[in-house]
Amino acid sequence: MSITVRAAAKINLHLGVGRVREDGFHPLDTVYQAIGIHDDLTLTDAADLTLRTQVADHIDPAAVPEGSDNIVLRAARLLADHAGVGAAGAFEVRKDIPVAGGMAGGSADAAAALVAYDRLRDLRTPDEDLLALAARLGSDIPFSLVGGTARGVGRGEVVTPVEDLGSWWWVAVPSAEGLSTPVVYRHFDELRPDAPEVPASAEPLLAALASGEPVRLARALHNDLQEPAIDLRPELGDLIARGEAEGALRGMVSGSGPTVVFLCESADGAHETALGLAGAGHEVVLTATGPVAGAHVLA
Ligand code: ATP
Repeated sequence: MSITVRAAAKINLHLGVGRVREDGFHPLDTVYQAIGIHDDLTLTDAADLTLRTQVADHIDPAAVPEGSDNIVLRAARLLADHAGVGAAGAFEVRKDIPVAGGMAGGSADAAAALVAYDRLRDLRTPDEDLLALAARLGSDIPFSLVGGTARGVGRGEVVTPVEDLGSWWWVAVPSAEGLSTPVVYRHFDELRPDAPEVPASAEPLLAALASGEPVRLARALHNDLQEPAIDLRPELGDLIARGEAEGALRGMVSGSGPTVVFLCESADGAHETALGLAGAGHEVVLTATGPVAGAHVLA
């Protein structure tokens, strides 16, 4: 028997980051959106726990860890322990989400692994347990389970769906080389020692989402990690300017970067912006709509 689960990339429409706490974490007020760039994970019955990955052309296979460093196997082990069963099964992951790109590709895979393992083994884990296990694995993983558009507070792991009246068009431009999330946060600490204890509120962004108007959403997009990401990779600032010159309403670093996402007025606007960026020499330009579903079983 086997099962396939699809999980989506996320972007942060609002990422308010507060001053680092003594435990090393940053308080966040964020709004996530799941967009139509996916990894698909298939789990097949097997005696041992194994993993194979296949990557899209735009992903460097060497960037995806094998064996127990891969978050898929950590997720399976965690859920198996929780359920008191042995961890076994053959995982195959087909990756399309850029790696170390600020789009939570690893988190998507972990969420997919939890859902696949739960369903294939018929564990019937309650949703709140799955969400708690997800939060133990990583701050973005509860959102990867929930999908859609949702606000995340705490470290981003306390997730509540929000009203979103739009169907938004995005263009995403990954970089050949990833950027480490902890490095970007450390640089945020250096640049913003005066960061407020309470992160910038997502409320204005929520009002824009509820309006369904792309121009309003474009004005409300906010990412406190953009400044440190651009300081580390100045070319990201040029990329944002270029996409906006090609017709995007607004460009923004996605999460901790280095992927840059552009909000566009419409499908035509997204295709024009994507063509313009491809013409400007960007080899990988992805177009996606959001919001889309969280980790779910494919029929
Ligand atoms: P986030 O936005 O949540 O900070 P990200 O998109 O920047 O994440 P990921 O693609 O999740 O980054 O990868 C971060 C690191 O996690 C990678 O550099 C890789 O070493 C490790 N990793 C472990 N498992 C996976 C996986 N299944 N897919 C991708 N990366 C993985």
